[in-house]
Amino acid sequence: MTHNNICTACAADIYINTPVNRSFTYKIPGQMNILPGMRVVVNFGGRKMTGFVSSIHNKLPEGIELKDIESLIDDEPIYDDRIIRLAEYVSDSYLSSVGEALGKALPSGESSRSRPRASRVRQIQDSTISLTGKQKDIYEKIKSSGKGAHLIFGITGSGKTEVYMKAAIDAVSKGLSVIYLVPEITLSSQIHERLYKVFGENLIVYHSHLTPNQRLSNWKKFYRGEAMIAVGTRSAVFLQCPKLGLIIVDEEHDSSYKEQSTPRYNARRVAFYRGETENATLILGSATPSIETLYAAERGKIELHRLDERYGEGKLPIIEIVKLKNSNEEITPRLKLFTNKAIKDGKQAVYLLNRRGFAPFVLCGECGNAVECPDCSIGMNYHRGKGMLCHYCGYSSDVPLKCDKCGSESILKLGSGTQKIEELVSKEFPDYRIFRLDQDSARKKDAVYDLLEMMDKREIDILLGTQMISKGFDFHGVTVAGIIMADIGLNMPDFRATEKIFSLLMQLSGRSGRGGSEGRVIIQTLNDEHLIFGYLKKQDYWGFYREELKIRKLINYPPFSRLARIVIRGKEEEIVLQSAILLADDMKKTGSVKYPQIIILGPSPAPLSKIGGNYRYHIILKSNRLSDLTAFIRTALDSFKSKAVYIEIDIDPVDML
Ligand SMILES: [Zn+2]
Ligand SMILES: [Zn+2]
Repeated sequence: MTHNNICTACAADIYINTPVNRSFTYKIPGQMNILPGMRVVVNFGGRKMTGFVSSIHNKLPEGIELKDIESLIDDEPIYDDRIIRLAEYVSDSYLSSVGEALGKALPSGESSRSRPRASRVRQIQDSTISLTGKQKDIYEKIKSSGKGAHLIFGITGSGKTEVYMKAAIDAVSKGLSVIYLVPEITLSSQIHERLYKVFGENLIVYHSHLTPNQRLSNWKKFYRGEAMIAVGTRSAVFLQCPKLGLIIVDEEHDSSYKEQSTPRYNARRVAFYRGETENATLILGSATPSIETLYAAERGKIELHRLDERYGEGKLPIIEIVKLKNSNEEITPRLKLFTNKAIKDGKQAVYLLNRRGFAPFVLCGECGNAVECPDCSIGMNYHRGKGMLCHYCGYSSDVPLKCDKCGSESILKLGSGTQKIEELVSKEFPDYRIFRLDQDSARKKDAVYDLLEMMDKREIDILLGTQMISKGFDFHGVTVAGIIMADIGLNMPDFRATEKIFSLLMQLSGRSGRGGSEGRVIIQTLNDEHLIFGYLKKQDYWGFYREELKIRKLINYPPFSRLARIVIRGKEEEIVLQSAILLADDMKKTGSVKYPQIIILGPSPAPLSKIGGNYRYHIILKSNRLSDLTAFIRTALDSFKSKAVYIEIDIDPVDML
């Protein structure tokens, strides 16, 4: 060992995927060739972990014994310091460490000894895309503005994809890279096919169905500029490239852009940040933009473009709201009639089932009116022995004896006891071929490709599914969409429940009638007078948006505030509850002095109060300023140490269950 502490490249600053928010210095063994941008293996607290080298220096710190780096993972840099800055942004905004953010952003595969290929940017085939007048206008406007954020608010089937593709071709032909985000892997296969025809080998995919080594290999191609366009799901937003020109976020309202483990980033926000800091154009697109995005567009932060006509021969479907006789009715005569008619004509139907299975809610059997928390304006849930409970603020009340809207005494508890809807549908239509798609079956590799093919070949008559089936699939044979019971979605204990169900129903109606024949959407509900159905029938998203905005403003929900959710979970319910109370009390005490504008709700049991043997309580915070919110939570949690419970932080939460 040398006693002189000046040397050439002898120490490296390394980020590690751990909650400790700083880098660590390790010694570089003499024979090791290390550059910033490489991943290495280090010993951290007795465990072998991946380290991300951020810088190297030629001076060993004095008086500290450094551990050696154990081995190299990469033989060349696979990222540069732009990603460290991006990780710092994610770490600041979503309260993780920089190392955790890097762990999420970077691929995990092992390097094969692939040498950079000579760049061989192929001729782009753009002759297949022709734009209609309206599409052309939007494309020209985005092109002439050069950069900035744009929202294409276009009804389903209006041809947003053609505009994205034209903009992508422009960027690539100028030597700029393009990231094209889609919410689901299943969707990426349909888009991939279209993009491949234009971009060929210039295109890579990037999502979780690839093996880690495939991901790494595609990451490197994009990093080196050997491929200029990437299509992928949310983690593709971190892809590095020589010079970013364009990010497309298709179906920008989709909740799958939000990551569900630390750091809980939203790819839409990260895309926005990259657009601003890297001078790239951002195009968001949706038929049902999120309330937050539309609000930002109205205030001029995002340029709004509208596409109001269906592309090609597609027509908008007819939407019918059908009142269910009672909560046991599953398929109304209207739905049955149109399903039979469609299938006789050689067409197909899709049925949407809403997720059930947590605490039931209480509904009026006559008018469908549900019980809401007077302070939070969200549906309250029924708990045996405890009555009605608000899962945000903890407010409780007795089960009402009669409906406060129509006075009826027929009060139903709904939402528990999952019925086997698949069996019911099979019984109702014994001769039809029925297929069920849910999260679990969709996760299986190839399941969705099989489904797409089966739908295309008309081997399925009725497709049953949850939210999944509304996500941008392009089924040309579908003329009927049925929603089994819209009330379940409407009464979720989530301030976005109405937005989510409205957008879901609009999207689903967009799935029908795409092949030129008229589509019909049958929405079954106990509460046919609910405000949203009027807007839905007219397909009036603006009207709905204005109405919803009023409620958000009244209760100070986003976009008028920023939210954070802290989930406290553990195996022992009493310990979880006591910890949650302790933390909330502590926050309320210090918050009232330092940040009086932050509102702290709870603790209350999370709507999904037990998952995988863990009891869950949550605290919800509201603030007008994000920076206050994150600073406050960081200090509060720094002084709160508990080994018995685990704490999850979610900034701008999308899932409130
Ligand atoms: Zn409440
Ligand atoms: Zn009523």
